[in-house]
Amino acid sequence: MQIIDSDEDAAFRAEVRAFIQQALPQDIRDTFFGFRRHSWQQMIRWHRILADKGWVAVSWPREYGGCAWTPMQQYIFDEEAMLAGAPRLRPFGLKMIGPVLMRYGSDAQKARFLPRILSAEDYWCQGFSEPDAGSDLASLKTKATLDGDIWRIEGQKTWTTTAQHANWIFVLARSAPQAAKPQEGISLFLVDMSLPGVEVRPIITIDGDHHVNEVFLDGVEVGADMLVGEANKGWTYAKYLLGNERVGVANVGQAKAELKLLRRLALTRKRGNQALIDDPVFAAKLADLETDFLAHETTNLRMLSTLKPGGDASALAPFLKLRGSEIQQRITELASEAVGPRAAIWQRGEEGDPLDSYGLHGWLNARAFTIFGGSSEVMKNIIAKTTLGL
Ligand SMILES: Cc1cc2nc3c(=O)[nH]c(=O)nc-3n(C[C@H](O)[C@H](O)[C@H](O)COP(=O)(O)OP(=O)(O)OC[C@H]3O[C@@H](n4cnc5c(N)ncnc54)[C@H](O)[C@@H]3O)c2cc1C
Repeated sequence: MQIIDSDEDAAFRAEVRAFIQQALPQDIRDTFFGFRRHSWQQMIRWHRILADKGWVAVSWPREYGGCAWTPMQQYIFDEEAMLAGAPRLRPFGLKMIGPVLMRYGSDAQKARFLPRILSAEDYWCQGFSEPDAGSDLASLKTKATLDGDIWRIEGQKTWTTTAQHANWIFVLARSAPQAAKPQEGISLFLVDMSLPGVEVRPIITIDGDHHVNEVFLDGVEVGADMLVGEANKGWTYAKYLLGNERVGVANVGQAKAELKLLRRLALTRKRGNQALIDDPVFAAKLADLETDFLAHETTNLRMLSTLKPGGDASALAPFLKLRGSEIQQRITELASEAVGPRAAIWQRGEEGDPLDSYGLHGWLNARAFTIFGGSSEVMKNIIAKTTLGL
C-alpha cells in the first residue's frame, strides 16, 4: 500500500529526491546497499553536503539557519534520504541541544553554538545517564558547585554515544543537593571536552563496536556563561530535550529502507532450491512485519499531521519510540534468519561477504534500541499515566 502525498507534499518530495539523487556520494549509497554500516566520516561528509545546501537543520527556524519545514516535510526528507542509502545524522546537536538553546539559551550561547552545529565544526554528545541513574535520571549524582563565577563539575557519565568523536558535551548535574525534590536541584551545562578533567573511556558493546563511552568529569571548571537558562531548572530543559529525542527514535524512514533491503535479501537468498521469499513460512513473517510497519507508519503520519513546526511532541513521543524500536528489532531478527547459519561464523574485523555479517551484527546492535532514549518499560509507564490516566 502506498500512502499518497498531497499535491504540495508531492512537489516537495520530487525536489528532495532530485537533490539527493545528484548530491549523495556513490560510495555512501554503496555502503548501505552493500549491507554495510556507514562510517563516521561518511556521516560527517553528508552532514556538510546538507549544510552547504541549507538543509541540515530541518526543524530549526530560518533565523537560526534552519529550513523551518513542516513536520510532514521533515518526514518526507528523512524517508527520501534513508531510501537513497544516506547516513542518519546524529541527533545530539541538531535535535537535542540546538532546540534547547533556541528556547532556553542566552543570546551569546545561540550566537556561539548554533552556527557550529550547522557546519559540524562542533559535535555534541549527551551527558545525562550515570552508572546509577538511567531510567531514574533524577537520581543523578554528578555535582556542580558554584565558586565565584566558576562552576566546578565532578562526577561520571556513562553510555555516552560518540563521545570519542565529540568536542562538546551537555551535562546534567546536581547544583542544589538540598532541594526538596530531586528534579528541582539539577542544572544543565555546556562543557568543552578538551578542558582539563574530562576523560573519555570506551565501552565496547555486544556487536563488537565502539559506539558508547564512559565520561569522567574530575573537577571540570566552566564559566557561568556555560549554564543553560537558570540554575536548578535543568530538569525542565531535559524533559523538552528528551521529548524531541524520542520522536527521532521512531525511525520510520530508516525502518522502511531496512525493510526494502530485507525484501531484496529474501529475493536473492536461497532456502533449499527456492528463493527465500517463496518459502511460505518466511514470506508470512515478512508480511506480518510489513503490515505492522505500515500501521506504525500510518500512526506516525497521523500524529505528524497534527503537529505544527516547532511544536512540542512530548505527548506523542512514547508511542513512536516504543513501536519504532520494536519494529527495528524485528527487522534485524528476520534479517538474521535470512542470512541463515553463516551469520554465526562472522567475527568482527574478518574479511568476507558483508552479507554474512549483516544479520547478526544488526541484530546485536538493535538490542540497545529498546533501552536508549527511554526503555520500553518506561515508555509503557508514561503511556499508562499520561494517556490512559492509570
Ligand atoms: C547504546 C546506548 C546508547 C546510549 N547513549 C546514551 C547517551 O548518549 N547519553 C546518555 O545520557 N545516555 C545514553 N544511554 C543510556 C540510556 O538512556 C539508559 O541506558 C536508559 O535510560 C536505561 O537506563 P539504565 O541503563 O540505567 O537501566 P535501568 O534504568 O537501571 O533499567 C534496568 C531495567 O529496569 C527497567 N525499569 C527501570 N525503571 C523501571 C520502571 N519504573 N518500571 C518498569 N521497569 C523499569 C528498564 O526498562 C530496564 O529493563 C545509552 C544507552 C545505550 C544502551
